[in-house]
Amino acid sequence: MEKRTYSSFLLKLFKSFDVTTEMMWGLHPLFHEEMKRGLTDKGGSLKMLPAFVDRPTGKEKGTFIALDLGGTNFRVLKVRLDGNGNARVENVERFVIPSVVMHGTGTQMFNFIAKSIQKFVVNNKVDTTKTKKLGFTFSFPMKQLDIENGILVTWTKDFSASGVVGKNVVSMLSDSLRQFGLEVLHINALANDTVGTFAAGAYKDPKCDVGIIFGTGTNACYREKIVNIKKLARGYHKKDHMIINIEWGNFDKLPLNEYDLKLDKSTKNPRKQRMEKMISGMYLGELARLVLSDLIRRKFIFVNSKAKFTKGALKTTNMSLIESDRSKDLIKIKGFLEHAGILKTTVSDRNLLKEICMMISSRAARVSAAAISSVITWMDPKLSKHHTVAIDGTLYERYPGFSKRITGALKELHGGRAKRIKLTKAKDGSGTGVAIIAAVAAKKKNSP
Ligand code: ADP
Ligand code: MG
Repeated sequence: MEKRTYSSFLLKLFKSFDVTTEMMWGLHPLFHEEMKRGLTDKGGSLKMLPAFVDRPTGKEKGTFIALDLGGTNFRVLKVRLDGNGNARVENVERFVIPSVVMHGTGTQMFNFIAKSIQKFVVNNKVDTTKTKKLGFTFSFPMKQLDIENGILVTWTKDFSASGVVGKNVVSMLSDSLRQFGLEVLHINALANDTVGTFAAGAYKDPKCDVGIIFGTGTNACYREKIVNIKKLARGYHKKDHMIINIEWGNFDKLPLNEYDLKLDKSTKNPRKQRMEKMISGMYLGELARLVLSDLIRRKFIFVNSKAKFTKGALKTTNMSLIESDRSKDLIKIKGFLEHAGILKTTVSDRNLLKEICMMISSRAARVSAAAISSVITWMDPKLSKHHTVAIDGTLYERYPGFSKRITGALKELHGGRAKRIKLTKAKDGSGTGVAIIAAVAAKKKNSP
């Protein structure tokens, strides 16, 4: 291997993943422009979907069942709201969504969900003699008609169940619930997972005005003034606010490198969800694998091993493990590689692998920071107020250094004022939050 080619290749590689402070600032006007377009009928890469709900007061009370359909799991939760800003999960069950269900028919998918709910009801002795109010978190872009109905715009992540796009997901789920004898369960609130996360954050902190997901996919919502939502029909008070689901995963004004393009081509939704493909758990591992495969092909890494990393062989969770290895000889990484069938590795091989992971996850964090800052400066250009950002998702929770890198990048952008942006973990927020929204919706219906 020629030393010069090797170092110049790496230099170029790292540069193609670099996001400088200037680049982060450069994204702000582009993001604002797309937000503005999305709020009108014109539309753009950001769908800016109205959620038909504003923030909770913190006084909502009662026990609600929440359904949370994410990208990987389906969860059912029983949540108790004490009317004092505390939401307690009393029971929770998780069901892994089988691949056949993700890619089968819509009816099969909603039947799977209804069947899981039935198991929950039995296991947790939920009283089904009386009508029960349910909140449903649906983590896909949907056009809501009101707080309890919404039409799937398009599938994202790895979902492709047929016959659902363009349909009302609440009616489909209600049909399946009826089939399983669960007609007493009435879905009275539908929310995107970002909106649920936001509600969970805002229930205990009135300064919360942004909700974010960093999980299988990524997305965010924020609190917008009604007067700015040009595409919304009239009938609202000028002083009202409404939560907007940005669907920021689809932001398409980011510079792409050759690996982004390669990854995009291999997905079920080419040319879509460009930003999500740089940030979220479903894609980071594959991006790292594509870089690694290129290094292997060029004989820059693992030269003594017949290494081959096929699609799916490097997951985001593996990257977490790789980055968490602080041992001198990178023993954990060695173990992971041996498990993957790569036996003869050097410390510098393992170090390079770690740096590749850091390069990819750092870019993810910095693009995320630029997006967070864009959303906040859209609401508050001079950062004159305090903003709490509620964040849910396993990537944010578990990826070593991810949240620190975001905070660091926000500091680069805003200096001392970055303190006004408080990032908080809203664990299970996408589930507990929709219970809060169900309570808000129930109160609204009961009031004159
Ligand atoms: P969902 O997005 O389905 O609601 P999660 O928020 O739990 O679910 O996110 C799941 C995703 O998180 C997985 O697809 C995986 O990529 C990522 N993930 C899981 N464990 C880890 C980990 N230890 N480190 C980094 N990412 C992880
Ligand atoms: Mg989720």
